[in-house]
Amino acid sequence: MPLQITLIDIIDISLVALILFQIYRIIRGTAAFSIFITIFLIYVTYLIVRALNMEMTAALLGQVVGLGVLALVIVFQQEIRRFLLVIGNRFIMRRGFSFTGLQSAVDYGTNVREAEEIVRACESMSQKNTGALIVIGRKSSLVIFSDGGELLKARISSELLETIFFKNTPLHDGAVLIEGGVILAARCPLPTTERVNIPSRYGMRHRAAIGMSERSDAIIIVVSEETGHISVFKTGEIRENITSNELRNILLMEKIW
Ligand code: ATP
Ligand code: MG
Repeated sequence: MPLQITLIDIIDISLVALILFQIYRIIRGTAAFSIFITIFLIYVTYLIVRALNMEMTAALLGQVVGLGVLALVIVFQQEIRRFLLVIGNRFIMRRGFSFTGLQSAVDYGTNVREAEEIVRACESMSQKNTGALIVIGRKSSLVIFSDGGELLKARISSELLETIFFKNTPLHDGAVLIEGGVILAARCPLPTTERVNIPSRYGMRHRAAIGMSERSDAIIIVVSEETGHISVFKTGEIRENITSNELRNILLMEKIW
């Protein structure tokens, strides 16, 4: 019988390729990658052995594959979580709704007063070499990133922002999340980027800012403790060492983007 390839087959193969490619993109460069390859190879061997009707080997490998699926879920807990987050965030960005109250098409951003308060705080912290990490959410909700932080839901003011990031205070570590015109949370741990082509001068704070900009449509401001420089991150892009005036323009333009 000649090999018949239907449209469904093409869709089927494309989907498998897409899923495998997405998995590869998420876990490449991580320790999980070699584990995935091993389990994948065992699975391929299982398929071959079964196709050749080698019953006992197939039964044995079948058990391993069955357990392997469970092992995958355990080993890849973090990756699966991240994968779902990425997909969820993309969906939310496109449809323009957020988890909080399901408000549709709200551009979170900040209004002029709030932008001004943030700029003033960053300017002052930059002069004093106070480190800061501020995430300003837009359409994709930041609520999931407030896990492990301290929920504040406070009015945005430069005094409060400076107080939060004041060295050696309980909330100064981690990121502040701003969304819907309020300071949602402080001391939040952010996911760091796994990119390898990052300048070595970037420490964990900057890596976390890049990571966050890859996982949401938020705009992220970093004030460096070491240099006092202000940098802004958006969708994986970096604007390094900008003036407070440039920061103001970026924040206010965000309203229009
Ligand atoms: P700086 O120029 O301010 O020193 P850096 O990029 O060199 O920034 P680090 O010195 O490694 O960063 O870390 C400084 C601070 O950044 C930490 O004390 C912590 O408060 C914060 N930070 C580090 N990693 C994360 C993270 N994943 N999520 C949130 N905050 C983080
Ligand atoms: Mg540092």
